[in-house]
Amino acid sequence: MKVFISADIEGTAFTTYWDETELKEGIYSRAAQEMTREVRAAVDGALAAGATEITVNDAHDWGINIDPNEMPECVELIRGWSGSPLSMVDGIDESYDAAMFVGWHAAAGRYGNPLSHTMSTKTTRVTLNGMPCSEFLLYSWACAMKGVPTVFLAGDRTLVDDSASLHPCLRTVALKDGFGGMTRCLAPAKAHRLIREESEAALRQDLHTAGVTLPDHFELRISYKEHKNAVKYSFFPGCCLEEGNTVVYESSDYMGLLTCAYFCL
Ligand SMILES: [Zn+2]
Repeated sequence: MKVFISADIEGTAFTTYWDETELKEGIYSRAAQEMTREVRAAVDGALAAGATEITVNDAHDWGINIDPNEMPECVELIRGWSGSPLSMVDGIDESYDAAMFVGWHAAAGRYGNPLSHTMSTKTTRVTLNGMPCSEFLLYSWACAMKGVPTVFLAGDRTLVDDSASLHPCLRTVALKDGFGGMTRCLAPAKAHRLIREESEAALRQDLHTAGVTLPDHFELRISYKEHKNAVKYSFFPGCCLEEGNTVVYESSDYMGLLTCAYFCL
């Protein structure tokens, strides 16, 4: 079994402030260590379920957060960014049996995590086909585009609740709740145990029933904090300026939508 894992940091067990997520000395190193441990727990769950090849995409910021020394032999780690609109799931292809997401966070404008955002912090609200457009929605559908089912998600409770119905065999672990600028977090030891157990259970399901069929038509609606960004990104091919701060992109081609998201978010 071949498994793809994409990892972020704002949805890990205790990150609360942006300073914890930015590559530098100090409190960031604790968060990067936690991200590494949560990914390792998902890797261990996958191994227990019979995975033989695991690819991990380190998909936060510079893409060099996970400590490679903590990965076992069967893991290949993707670091940095190629420039492809596949972005946080760059490296995914039809050869994988399942995708899993660890450390992911709620969409722009959503409560439940002080670090809620979608790709950047320049938007107030992003929707895809009327749903809150989390990075998880964007890139788990990218996996579906490649025929790879998404079966596991660990992140904040709002993202987990928003995502429950997106994939038929999705198993989840909610690692923290947020209210305003505050978080209430699981102890890391419990987070790691739940991630290991649930990722194993996720991969032990009948993966042939885990896929989704993507919609025929996609509508991405992006509201920017600043009007000048709405004007700027309305010039992306296929985008229209609507109201003062909102840009709308419509397509029946999901790779086109990912390309719009890559350049406009
Ligand atoms: Zn991130």
